[in-house]
Amino acid sequence: MNQIPDRRTFAIISHPDAGKTTLTEKLLLFGGAIHLAGEVKARGQARRARSDWMKIEQQRGISVTSSVMTFEREGITFNLLDTPGHEDFSEDTYRTLTAVDSAVMVIDVAKGIESQTRKLFEVCRLRSVPIITFVNKVDREGRENFETLDEIADLLALDVTPMTWPVGLGGQFEGVYDLVGNRLLLPEGPSREFQGKVIQTSGLDDPQLDEILSAQGLAKLREDAELAMAGYAPFDVEAYRNGDLTPVYFGSALKQFGVDALIGALAEHAPPPRPQPAEPAPVDPMNDEVTGFIFKVQANMDPNHRDRIAFMRLCSGTFKRGMKLTPTGHGKPVAIHSPILFFAQDRELAEEAFPGDIIGIPNHGTLRVGDTMSEKAQVRFTGLPNFAPEILRRVALKDPTKTKQLRKALDDMAEEGVTQVFYPEIGANIVIGVVGQLQLEVLISRLEAEYKVAAGLEMAPYETARWVSAADPKTLKDFTDINRSAMAKDRDGNPVFMAKSAWEVGYVAERYPDVKFAATRER
Ligand code: GDP
Repeated sequence: MNQIPDRRTFAIISHPDAGKTTLTEKLLLFGGAIHLAGEVKARGQARRARSDWMKIEQQRGISVTSSVMTFEREGITFNLLDTPGHEDFSEDTYRTLTAVDSAVMVIDVAKGIESQTRKLFEVCRLRSVPIITFVNKVDREGRENFETLDEIADLLALDVTPMTWPVGLGGQFEGVYDLVGNRLLLPEGPSREFQGKVIQTSGLDDPQLDEILSAQGLAKLREDAELAMAGYAPFDVEAYRNGDLTPVYFGSALKQFGVDALIGALAEHAPPPRPQPAEPAPVDPMNDEVTGFIFKVQANMDPNHRDRIAFMRLCSGTFKRGMKLTPTGHGKPVAIHSPILFFAQDRELAEEAFPGDIIGIPNHGTLRVGDTMSEKAQVRFTGLPNFAPEILRRVALKDPTKTKQLRKALDDMAEEGVTQVFYPEIGANIVIGVVGQLQLEVLISRLEAEYKVAAGLEMAPYETARWVSAADPKTLKDFTDINRSAMAKDRDGNPVFMAKSAWEVGYVAERYPDVKFAATRER
């Protein structure tokens, strides 16, 4: 049976505190994947306790690891890829966003678009990932709806279509009106902690509304809705799927209100698995050959096994347990005997998986972020970038006899995409590069906990790095010879130019017009 139309692989993007965790919990709850709200966090804590390096997570109360959760509802399988909320982990987050077909953007009704939302949105835009907006916390005082909508339109340069409209906010909140289906959704019961009572109306003029809503609330709803429908583009599914328009839903994750409509929107409008950019040609999910790519590698999920899990997004074909897939460009076929599907409560052994699904492949370091996996090893998925580091540090060993262990540890972590590692042409000091400060702490803490290597970090005379290449090998050689003291190799042996500042990069680039300085490197 063709399972592709019934798959929705998506991520939630938001600024910390907008309500992503709460919404995730409620989505899983509605999807029947968990039975008690609160389990997402509780389960997270149990897992954290098992892994030493996640102490930082506990101390800071932030989530640094992404995970995958699958739930089903009314015949649709939803794969929700969790993205770390902290801005320091943007690189990991970016890669996760390469593995989804759509995203839900959660914004706080009182705060609107915040810095992190915006950054994540830009990544979605790069890949034309369609976005459904959920304006959260309508049970609290917030900004005028028009202000919120106009801000999305202006800051993100997107068309917006309000699909629902809250009647009052905070203390005045009475319910949400579904502008498309002409339904009134009421928070029913004294605690209001209900999915809501649905009242079908014939439109905003329906006299039923006069009986249910306060005169003031209804008058404002009528006026606002009229303005909104005249002022914003009508919903257009093609524009949404192209990433040009975002439908906007209002609700409260905490009160479980409007979450149902959001799942409905994902089921109805969000795209099923899309063709994925690849060479020599994009891969259609309907292709028979099993293909996928690794967007994340997580080490030591279970400290007793020192295993690592490579997360693969399946792009085409029907995957069956035991199948052999070959990482394109390197390595022999890997027989995948114990693939893992990530259901909310447990890891489950996967017998079968379909395009859009994520499977975890246990391995001992053979699989790396960016690898294409396929039966025939003839395609390569593109667009999984490495980002130019914004912070470079020298690694100083406290015990010089541990050089070998240090190298191994840094290579491992580079492979996971936690940090980048550079081996300077001159001198023995390894330089590591990260895009955020917190990664440095994670690094040092993991070196000690997992590899028993005590190390410190020293300032490096460089601030940023670029991958260099040139059409003519001689041009590149001349460049590297002259700039030897600033040259290094990355883990794969690619030449990297380390610069004291972004300004220096610009300056040098001007002097060497035939050398290409890349801020990202595709793997
Ligand atoms: P995250 O950082 O985006 O994952 O945000 P959380 O889900 O942890 O929520 C941050 C805070 O906002 C928590 O205290 C939540 O209880 C609260 N919160 C989340 N959703 C709502 C909502 O709909 N209404 C209200 N009043 N508070 C909410």
